[in-house]
Amino acid sequence: MKFVRFSYGGPVVYGVLEDDSVRIIDGTPFEKYTVSDKTYLLEKVRLLEPVVPSKIVAIGLNYIDHASELGMESHKEPILFLKPPSTILSTGDSIIYPEMSKQVEYEAELAIVIKSITRHVSADQSGERILGYTCANDVTARDLQKKDIQWTRAKSFDTFAPIGPCIATGIDPDNLKIELRLNGEVKQSSNTSNMHFKPDFLVSFISHIMTLCPGDLILTGTPPGVGPMSPGDKVEVTIEGIGTLSNKVTTL
Ligand code: MG
Repeated sequence: MKFVRFSYGGPVVYGVLEDDSVRIIDGTPFEKYTVSDKTYLLEKVRLLEPVVPSKIVAIGLNYIDHASELGMESHKEPILFLKPPSTILSTGDSIIYPEMSKQVEYEAELAIVIKSITRHVSADQSGERILGYTCANDVTARDLQKKDIQWTRAKSFDTFAPIGPCIATGIDPDNLKIELRLNGEVKQSSNTSNMHFKPDFLVSFISHIMTLCPGDLILTGTPPGVGPMSPGDKVEVTIEGIGTLSNKVTTL
C-alpha cells in the first residue's frame, strides 16, 4: 500500500494511491483508519511531505563504497547525526541553495518511517514499529561538512531534506534498487542490499539512544556517486516499490 499526504484546495488529508488517483482515508496511517469512497485524480492534488517528523535521524557512511569515495573509513557502529524537521521538503518543491555554501550535494537515501513509540526494541521487534519507507535526499553542503568539526550546519539548511512521494508499506527494505538522476542523467545506482547496517538493526540501535515517535524518519545512508548540484538543476530519487521524489534547485 502507498500512503500519501495531500491537499486538494481543502484540508490536508491522508490517502492511498490507486494508479492515477488518490483515495482519502478517514484518520491517519499511524492509527486505525477507514478508507473512504472519495477519490481525486492525482494530477489535481498537491502532494505534501508524507510525514511531519519530530526528528530526522540520519546515518553517515552506511554504504561501504560511499565511505571510501569520501576518503573515510566505515565504522563498527552506525554514525548518527540529526537534521531538524525544518529541513523537510515535499516532492515538487525547490531546494534552496544557501549563500554560505559553494558545494551543495545530493545523497539519495531510503528513509524509514516510524509507526509508533519505539524505545529499547530488539532488531526482531523493529519491524512492527516501522510503518513503511519513503525516498529521501540528504542534501549536504559538502564544503561546510569538511570545514566544521561536526555536521550540523552542513546538513541543516531549510529544504535540505526532501522526502516523498509516498510511504510504501509491505516492501523488503533490504533489497530495493535505488537511483538518483540529475537532469535526467543517472548519478547514483545501487541496491539497499549494499547497506552495511540494515533498517531493522538501525531502528533497534537508535531506540536504545532516543525514543522514536510516530512519523520520525531514519535516513539510512547513501550509495556511491554523490556529487554537486547547481541552481536550475532537477534532482530525482527513485526507489523500487516506492516511486520518485523530484525537486528542483533554486536560489532565494
Ligand atoms: Mg547521507
